[in-house]
Amino acid sequence: MKSQKSQRIKSRFLGLAKRAEDFLIPPLCVICNGALEHDRWLCRSCLNSLCVNHNTRNACPRCSQNRGRRDCACEFAWDYPFQKAFSIYDYDDTLRLIARHIKYKGKKRLAYHMGQISASLIPQDFFDNIDIIIPVPLHKSRMRARGYNQAEWFARGVFKGMNSCLRLHIDLLRRTKNTGTQTKLDKESRLSNLACAFAVNPHKICELKGKKLVLVDDILTTGATVEACTEELIRGGCASVRVLSMGRD
Ligand SMILES: [Zn+2]
Ligand SMILES: [Zn+2]
Repeated sequence: MKSQKSQRIKSRFLGLAKRAEDFLIPPLCVICNGALEHDRWLCRSCLNSLCVNHNTRNACPRCSQNRGRRDCACEFAWDYPFQKAFSIYDYDDTLRLIARHIKYKGKKRLAYHMGQISASLIPQDFFDNIDIIIPVPLHKSRMRARGYNQAEWFARGVFKGMNSCLRLHIDLLRRTKNTGTQTKLDKESRLSNLACAFAVNPHKICELKGKKLVLVDDILTTGATVEACTEELIRGGCASVRVLSMGRD
């Protein structure tokens, strides 16, 4: 109890110190340390260098991969339980750095900001007939360690930027098993590691029945996590799932 309290005091103090620092030293671009103009996080040239995946004629209708740059094999081998996936940006050096700031350097506000400025880049029809947006949940022990769920903050930003009448639901799906870091595992190992890692919130199950969902993650890698989430959501009675991410590694 006592350590939780001192933890809270410590994080509140750090928050205040950060705000004071931002006030005294104007923040610079998180990517290149250049001067900021109209954007709070990224300079104009870093913003312009982000490579948007939307609506290119080469884009795969299922995985949104720009086939002009990278191949995909969706028409031969789409074995995901979700309908389709859309990644807003190409996973280049700039996006990789942004993702790292979001995930490992405490910048949850950057996740929110990225969601907000990127919402208009998502093809309109991606949200056709969608009822609910939900983020990929984080296990509570990781939540405690990081202090926030970056997928949730990105989803909140997208939701804010869309200005639509959809619903954002952050407590529909829970991560019940702490799978640890999966970065070193291949897809098969990730999937078995993720078996039974997610559970629909039993108090919210009636809100899921028959609904069409968009599941939001920050960066997709093998897709094993969103696959496990989708399977649990479908078991819980939802009609369909689409996957939205900021980028795909
Ligand atoms: Zn920059
Ligand atoms: Zn594809």
